[in-house]
Amino acid sequence: MVKVLSSNLGYPRLGEKREWKKSLENFWNNKISEDTLLSETKEIRFAALNKQKEKGLDLIPVNDFTLYDHVLDLSVGFGVIPKRFGEFTNAVSLRTYFDIARGNDTAVASEMTKWFNTNYHYIVPELDQVEPKLLENKALNAYLEAKEELGIDGKPVIVGPITYLKLGKGADKADFASLVEKFVPLYKTIIEELDAAGAKWIQLDEPILATSLAKEELVLFEKVYEELRTAAPHAKLILQTYFESVDEYEAIIELPVDAIGLDFIHDHGESLEKIQQFGFPNNKYLAAGIIDGRNVWRADIQLKQAELEILTRLVPKEKLIVQPASSLLHVPVTKKSEPNLDQVLYDGLSFADEKLDEVVLLAKAVSSDAKEVFSELQKTELAVSELNRSEHRNNKEVQAEIAALDSISADRKSPFETRIKKQHEWLKLPVLPTTTIGSFPQSPEVRSKRAAFLKGNITKAEYEAFIDEETERWIRIQEDLDLDVLVHGEFERTDMVEYFGQKLAGFQATKFGWVQSYGSRAVRPPLIYGDVAFTETITVKESKFAQSLTNRPVKGMLTAPVTIINWSFVRDDIPKSDVFNQVGLALRKEVLALQENGIRVIQVDEPALREGLPLKRSRWEKYLNDAVYAFKLTTSGVEDETQIHTHMCYSDFDDIIDAISALDADVISIETSRSHGEIISTFEDYHYDKEIGLGVYDIHSPRVPSISEIKTNIERALRVIPVQNFWINPDCGLKTRKEEETVAALRDMVSATKEIRETYTILEK
Ligand code: GLN
Ligand code: ZN
Repeated sequence: MVKVLSSNLGYPRLGEKREWKKSLENFWNNKISEDTLLSETKEIRFAALNKQKEKGLDLIPVNDFTLYDHVLDLSVGFGVIPKRFGEFTNAVSLRTYFDIARGNDTAVASEMTKWFNTNYHYIVPELDQVEPKLLENKALNAYLEAKEELGIDGKPVIVGPITYLKLGKGADKADFASLVEKFVPLYKTIIEELDAAGAKWIQLDEPILATSLAKEELVLFEKVYEELRTAAPHAKLILQTYFESVDEYEAIIELPVDAIGLDFIHDHGESLEKIQQFGFPNNKYLAAGIIDGRNVWRADIQLKQAELEILTRLVPKEKLIVQPASSLLHVPVTKKSEPNLDQVLYDGLSFADEKLDEVVLLAKAVSSDAKEVFSELQKTELAVSELNRSEHRNNKEVQAEIAALDSISADRKSPFETRIKKQHEWLKLPVLPTTTIGSFPQSPEVRSKRAAFLKGNITKAEYEAFIDEETERWIRIQEDLDLDVLVHGEFERTDMVEYFGQKLAGFQATKFGWVQSYGSRAVRPPLIYGDVAFTETITVKESKFAQSLTNRPVKGMLTAPVTIINWSFVRDDIPKSDVFNQVGLALRKEVLALQENGIRVIQVDEPALREGLPLKRSRWEKYLNDAVYAFKLTTSGVEDETQIHTHMCYSDFDDIIDAISALDADVISIETSRSHGEIISTFEDYHYDKEIGLGVYDIHSPRVPSISEIKTNIERALRVIPVQNFWINPDCGLKTRKEEETVAALRDMVSATKEIRETYTILEK
């Protein structure tokens, strides 16, 4: 019998109950020693390795585990350590390692940024003037540890040289080739040492191949891998790509490695198409990523089997490896921690552990006679079809509405110029109106009251009375500050996505569905598992109450479809754009309910619009069209007089400004400070015709800005944006700030505004 191999690309670090996070944080807070940290995390690492072994996985990844971030591991191993943390000739201490990630009293942390299009953040290598030297071969240590202590002959996983260096910053990009040249010998040593230690497979992750690469970079790939090849006379090198299809398929399959790893999930069907069109070299292994490493649904096993059948006709079985399409870092550990979920939903789920079972099962199914695993296959097939057939996914009303989308106009009744006049008439706001982004400080008291309510220590009525009190207190504070457009403060929400998930049908929260976001920080995305439907008003009660307390307008506050979806695990049985529209339709009802209840300024936040952009530019247009449509579906039903705001907390706008404008929001507020003036220059070139607030102070630190500093920021913006279109607001929501600093900063903001208004009224006379 020919055996098809099963493999994994990386396992979650967090532990089933976030034990990893707890160990790290206990160490940072000096509650445990370094030895304890190391022994506790070793236990987590070993548990994961043993689990994978028991499942019968052939290639088990090692070196995927880390104490913070795998990219940082590589940087410190190469001595790529910013000078402000010291000079090192030996492996750095754990203190230094964490200092680079988190900063210390004298040196700021290295920047972190999103790992491709995921919600995982890596520490950006600082490559200016580097003279790399190998201080530590962590991959080797990980390999030897698993082999000697667990008898697991693992597959070391390392971020490959081109991806690693492309993700760094500070290097002379024009001389990328010589930068690469500096690192190749180090990579060679790592590989040589692994090869000598007996490693049979070595996985080099080059997800950069799934983006659009320049021709010279491809040439570089050939050169570099030619060299790396010589470092591994025995071990098989796997060139691993993920998160998309590869553009340069024909060149990539010819690279001098033993196996090519391709993504068959997020590739829009292109990986298979390319193999069919151009063939696959018969001297190489195909590592086929056919289980989704980034979502939580059980695979449609029949479909997967059929796909593998096709592959076995193009690649010999003995050269086929079945695996997840990416590391399982992006999914929670095991669904076994969720025993209380509805059975149909539970059966339809698959977290990391269950995905590995699917991988092993599929490898068996293609290796041998599928009859041997027939009952397993049938069981999983049944689970998926039951969920698909369940009432959750067959809400007749929602489906009828989606079918009739054409009958709904996604455009406002009148163009902006007409609307804004009507809005000005009733709003009667001064020039440079002031407002905030939505949330006010979630004080320890707010959090402890919520915890008490969730534990059942106080009643719902008591909790709600407390929220009302807090809202009223902040309405008075806002009036006292003399802000023009007020907010209710979002005290009832822990999280801007979770809150909507709790109130809309089709969502389910989990108890332990944590995934790492950065360092010890984890998020728990809700599951969008069914048809999304509006069942009750979501924000009306709180907004209406806040509005009843004041004569000034209070903004309603919603989270927009794309942000809700990007921060959730979304069902994959229907196109994502259908889910966008389902959420859009549900929120449209909420917007109309707000309007009906006297809320005539409504903000719909879309902070995740940009981060959801596809890796390949060729797919941007569809994504942006879908996103804009869903936003307009949400907001377009209102009267001209109702003012729609939106908010985004990033300012990398240049290339999507048309889409931003197409949202057709009457007012947009965006973060500004972190862009260091770039956003302002965007508006030099682009004539933005609607109202806009460029955040006038940074909310990411407790620092209270001075009046003159805020005035400078406002004046700078007014050089490119007409004063009658400009709004004054902080960069983002204030929920993480303390009350004292918030009030002080807003007071300065209002004072600065009033001083500038003076000069404008004088000028007008
Ligand atoms: N309205 C939200 C708040 O103020 C917006 C948060 C965000 O932009 N991420 O908290
Ligand atoms: Zn924001």
